[in-house]
Amino acid sequence: MMTDNIFLKILNKQLPAKIAYEDDRCLAFHDIKPQAPVHVLIIPRKVIATHDDLTEEDRELVGHLHLVAAKLAKQLGVSEGYRVVVNCRERAGQTVPHLHLHLLGGRDLAWPPG
Ligand code: 5GP
Repeated sequence: MMTDNIFLKILNKQLPAKIAYEDDRCLAFHDIKPQAPVHVLIIPRKVIATHDDLTEEDRELVGHLHLVAAKLAKQLGVSEGYRVVVNCRERAGQTVPHLHLHLLGGRDLAWPPG
């Protein structure tokens, strides 16, 4: 169900995660199956299922999530080169229906992605 997924459980501290950063609007934690030496997920506390469900009211929030990603990239030592990715819906690889930014870094990243 859209309102009951693993990221909501992490947000509600019902499931443990290695937290990298948190504030009143978002939570960032290390991915359980990292695809790079640094792989952090940044999620809003607000329930938004996919990137496509964003509305005008989320404008500021989206900016905030990106600023947190940039701050974490510096803190985690990957600001020389990193990638911020959002997979939108199953066809693009989204597996958890709660909006999340992937912050990936610490190795060379190929382009185009798969
Ligand atoms: P998506 O494929 O939806 O873009 O990304 C979901 C990400 O969540 C995947 O990279 C996956 O490894 C990660 N993930 C799934 N379940 C858990 C979990 O229970 N804990 C953590 N820390 N990451 C998870």
